[in-house]
Amino acid sequence: MSRPPVRLYDTFTRSRQELRPIHDGVVRIYSCGPTVYRYVHVGNLRTFMLPDLLCRSLTYLGFPTHQVMNITDVGHLTDDTFDRGEDKMLVSARLENKSTEEISAYYTNAFMADIRKVNIQPAVEYPRATQYIPQMIELIEKLIVQGHAYEIGGTVYYDIATFPAYGRLSRNTTDNLLTGVRGDPDPRKKHPGDFTLWKAAGEHRQQLWPSPWGEGFPGWHIECSAMSLSLLGERFDVHTGGADNVFPHHEAEIAQSEAVTGHRVVGLWMHGGLLMLSGARMAKSAGNFFRITELEDQGFDPLAFRYLALQAKYRAPLNFSTERLAGADRALRQLRERVAAWSSQSAPDVSAPSEEWESRFRSGIGNDLDMPAAMALVAELMRSSLPAPVKATLLKRWDAVLGLDLDRPTTEEGRLPDGAAELLEARKKARAAKDFARSDRLREELAALGVKVIDAADGQHIKR
Ligand SMILES: [Zn+2]
Repeated sequence: MSRPPVRLYDTFTRSRQELRPIHDGVVRIYSCGPTVYRYVHVGNLRTFMLPDLLCRSLTYLGFPTHQVMNITDVGHLTDDTFDRGEDKMLVSARLENKSTEEISAYYTNAFMADIRKVNIQPAVEYPRATQYIPQMIELIEKLIVQGHAYEIGGTVYYDIATFPAYGRLSRNTTDNLLTGVRGDPDPRKKHPGDFTLWKAAGEHRQQLWPSPWGEGFPGWHIECSAMSLSLLGERFDVHTGGADNVFPHHEAEIAQSEAVTGHRVVGLWMHGGLLMLSGARMAKSAGNFFRITELEDQGFDPLAFRYLALQAKYRAPLNFSTERLAGADRALRQLRERVAAWSSQSAPDVSAPSEEWESRFRSGIGNDLDMPAAMALVAELMRSSLPAPVKATLLKRWDAVLGLDLDRPTTEEGRLPDGAAELLEARKKARAAKDFARSDRLREELAALGVKVIDAADGQHIKR
C-alpha cells in the first residue's frame, strides 16, 4: 500500500505541516516526560498518549520512529512559571523521609507501570536529568559566552532581551510577558521574564552539583535542551508535550537550543490538550485527579480510559467523568466481544473488500492523528455488511494503532458486582473526610458483596 503524506499540527506555525523526516527516513521525537516525585494521574497519561499515538500511527504508515522521553529527577521549583517556591523533589523526600534517589526510583517505577496499563509503548530511551548535568553546564557556559546569559551570586539567568524570537511559540511578546509575572519578581533579574538556567544552592542540602558558578542545581528548561541535543542532535523532527508546557517550558527551550546552535532545532511542536474534571483542569496541585490504578480499583478496565481519550482530538480539551468512563468501558467490552465472535467464523478471502476501509483508516490517522475519525470508522465498520471475518481482521490490524487489546478474550472476571463502584467511591470520599465510622460501615457493605478492601498508603485497593 502506498504511503500517504502525514500532516501534523505544528504549534509554532499554528498550521498543519507535512512531516518530512530529516534523517534517513527515521522520525526523531523528543517528549517531555514526568517529574518523578509523585504519581502521575490520568491527565498526565493523556499527555503521554500523544507521542504513543504518534509513534504507533507513523509506524503503521511506514515511517520508522525513534522516540526519547526524559525523566525529570531533579526537583524543579513548585512554581515553575515564576522561579519561586520549594523544590518538589525535596518536599517529597522530606514528607516521606526518603532520599531524593529513593523517591525518584520509586516514582519512575510507578510511572512505567501506569503507562503500561494504558498500553503506552515504551520510548527507545528514558534519559534521567541527573545524568546530563555536565551537558547542561556546558550549554550554560556557551550561553554566557554568547551574551545570552548572566550570573549573579551563583545563579545564572537567561537574558530574554537577547533573543528577539522569545515569545514566538506561545505568542507572548516580551512586553506582554511582564504582565504574566505575579508578585514581587527577583530584583536581580534584568527583565522580570528572565528565567533561571542554574540556581545557587541556597538553603538546599540535597541534589547539588559543583559548577563554575558554585554549588547549585539546574533549572528545569535547560534539562530538556541538554537531553534533546545530546540524544537527537541539533535538528530533529518532532517535540511533544502538554499544552501547559508551551509557556514557559518550551519557549525557554527554543531560546536556549536555538541560541546555542544558531538555527532552528525542532521541526514540529505538538501539544496535547488538557484533561478536565468538573470544568477544571485535572492537576496534582489542585487535588482533583485520579490515578489509573484508582479507576482500576473501581472496576474499570484501564484501557477504557484509552478508549475515552480516543474519542477526542488529541489537541482538544477532554472532559473526564466516571459516567463517561463507564460508557467507554461498556463500549470497549462490546467491541471485544464482537471481535471474538466474528473471528470464530470461517474466513473468506479478505483482501478485496478491505482495501477501501484500510485506506480510509490510514488517511484518518495521517491527518493530524484524527482518532475520532478512526473511531467513527470503527463504528461504521461494525454496522457494515462486510463479512464478519473481514471486520475482525481489519479491527485487529487497526488495533496496532488504537492499542485497545481488541483480541483479548472477554470474561466476566475483574468486573465488580452491581453497586460496588458507588460504594468504593463513597468510601474514598469518607476516608478523605476522615469519617472513619462511615468508611468502616462501607467496608462491611462491600464485604457483603464479596469485595474485600485494603487500605494502603496510596489509597484503597480491592481484593476479590
Ligand atoms: Zn521538557
